[in-house]
Amino acid sequence: MKADTSTLPLVGISACLVGERVRYNGAHKYAPHVFDALSNDVRWENICPEVAAGLPVPRPAMWLLPAGDELRLWTHDGTIDHTQSLIDAAERTIQDLLARGMAGFVAKARSPSCGVGDTPIMDCTEPSRPEVIGHTSGLFVQTLQRLGPEIPIASDEALHDPIQRTRFLEQVRRRFESQA
Ligand code: SF4
Repeated sequence: MKADTSTLPLVGISACLVGERVRYNGAHKYAPHVFDALSNDVRWENICPEVAAGLPVPRPAMWLLPAGDELRLWTHDGTIDHTQSLIDAAERTIQDLLARGMAGFVAKARSPSCGVGDTPIMDCTEPSRPEVIGHTSGLFVQTLQRLGPEIPIASDEALHDPIQRTRFLEQVRRRFESQA
């Protein structure tokens, strides 16, 4: 008989980490140390912010470039700026998840949409030699931090560490219980 999961905390997760083939190159990044390890403790909601923004699979790779005080999400070939469509879709998705009581999010490391403090900021002044000039969070995660600053967020890479995994789960449960 299938277990009743309705009483478990709702946790968002980058869809590529659960094995969905939604990456720019049509691949996934299945992360059993997250998905399998926590599946008895949480209810997952799979989200690909780039697909939610209407981008196809496969799609041109993107990166974050500085523009004055802000960061913009450009395709590597510099032909399309997806910043606004990504942020608009992220706001819609996150507001829906918050209204449904989301208690945490696990995001794919280093992605220009999903990274958690480890996404490269690029300088393409010299197009043949793009350089990493800093790191930040991806645009979806930045939007989540703005709209839901109380929501615990962890990257899949941080959760390789069992201590961090336990700590993240405790934060999720505290958040879940605070909403009861
Ligand atoms: S890292 Fe995020 S935006 Fe990229 S494929 Fe995975 S879920 Fe989609």
